[in-house]
Amino acid sequence: MDQLDLGAIQARTDAATGGDWRYEAYAGLGKHGVLGAANIPIGRLDFGDGDQADADRDFVLNAHRDVAALLARVRQLEAQLAEHREKYGPRCEWCEQPMTEPNGAGWWICTPCGDKNAAKWAGQPDIPF
Ligand SMILES: [Zn+2]
Repeated sequence: MDQLDLGAIQARTDAATGGDWRYEAYAGLGKHGVLGAANIPIGRLDFGDGDQADADRDFVLNAHRDVAALLARVRQLEAQLAEHREKYGPRCEWCEQPMTEPNGAGWWICTPCGDKNAAKWAGQPDIPF
C-alpha cells in the first residue's frame, strides 16, 4: 500500500465546505442536493431510493466530518508511536539518541549522526512497533 499523504488529505479536507452536510430534496420541484454550513450548496446529488441509496447518502453526508476525525486520530496515534519509539526504540551506539525509521522503510537512522550510520543498523530485526 502506498504511503498516505496526510498533508494532501488534510488540505483537501480543509478546503472543502465546512460544517455538517445535509441532503435536501424538493420532490415537487425536482431539485435535490447537498448543502454545507450556512446553506452553501455543495452539489446536486440524487441518491435515489432504497437501502443502498440511504447508505450512500449517509456516507457522503458524513465524509467531511469522518475524514477530519480520522486524520485527527491518525495524527494522535502517530504522536503516540513516535513517543513510544523514542522511549523504547533503538538508540544510536555513538550518540545514544533515538534512531528513526523514515517512512517505515525498514531501516533506522540516527539524524544527529547522519545517514552514515544507517548501514550500521541495516538488517536489524524488525521491532514490533
Ligand atoms: Zn547518533
